[in-house]
Amino acid sequence: MTGLRSSREEVARLLRQKAELGPEALYLSGLSRGEALRLAATARAGAQALETSATLTRPVAASGTPKGRGSPAPTRQAVAAVTSSLPVLPASYVELREHALSCTRCRLSEGRTQVVFSDGVEHARVMVVGEAPGASEDETGVPFVGAAGKYLNLLLSTVGLSRADTVYIANVLKCRPPGNRNPMPDEIEACSPFLLKQIELVQPEVLLAVGSFSAQLLTGREKVALGKIRGEVHNYGGVPLVVTYHPAALLRNPKWTRPFWEDLQLLRQVLDGA
Ligand code: SF4
Repeated sequence: MTGLRSSREEVARLLRQKAELGPEALYLSGLSRGEALRLAATARAGAQALETSATLTRPVAASGTPKGRGSPAPTRQAVAAVTSSLPVLPASYVELREHALSCTRCRLSEGRTQVVFSDGVEHARVMVVGEAPGASEDETGVPFVGAAGKYLNLLLSTVGLSRADTVYIANVLKCRPPGNRNPMPDEIEACSPFLLKQIELVQPEVLLAVGSFSAQLLTGREKVALGKIRGEVHNYGGVPLVVTYHPAALLRNPKWTRPFWEDLQLLRQVLDGA
């Protein structure tokens, strides 16, 4: 409970800072208001310098441009190319969802209460990709509704994002693994085509992978620690991809709240075409 409380205090501090400093404020734990204001001014000056240099050094620049304001959209064909080698799935969103809701492609169909397909708006600017449903999700059929989901909603709101109008959420696995164990490789292989088809149909401007399983799947970098691939913008079929910790991990380990927040700032910058 101490960890959860301190994590909530961090978020409360973050929200107070944003109210005082504005939506582009930096969140830096332990700073006074004056120190934060000085740093925010430095950051703004740095951002202006970056704008004028017009040099984007992130990996995404190699094969895709963020679909922010004034930037060309990632092509639907590029994402479709990623999914072209997958099993044939329905081409329409409604049919894909119906197909998943009755799926028995892997052993997880035997123990589930409900298939958890997605939540949020269908044509969202941001698509959040998690790992697998937990007990609350299995019961309700909606992803990220437990404590971790509520924390995710709160953190997303600090960068102006909400599943009510800008966010779509789905998991790598659509059915709950027993006892919330980790997904098995054959389960990921069986289920991930649904997720990849969802990405193709939703056409998000930016992807946010939370947790190792979604990060490794979408970056294609298996067995790489999350800490080594977060903090930069990757590229999934032309769509900018930010990877970060799972919100459930933040509840267990509040020291990851700050890097999570920094990754959300990065996502916001990509979304704004910075
Ligand atoms: S986890 Fe995915 S592949 Fe397995 S039964 Fe559920 S929907 Fe089908």
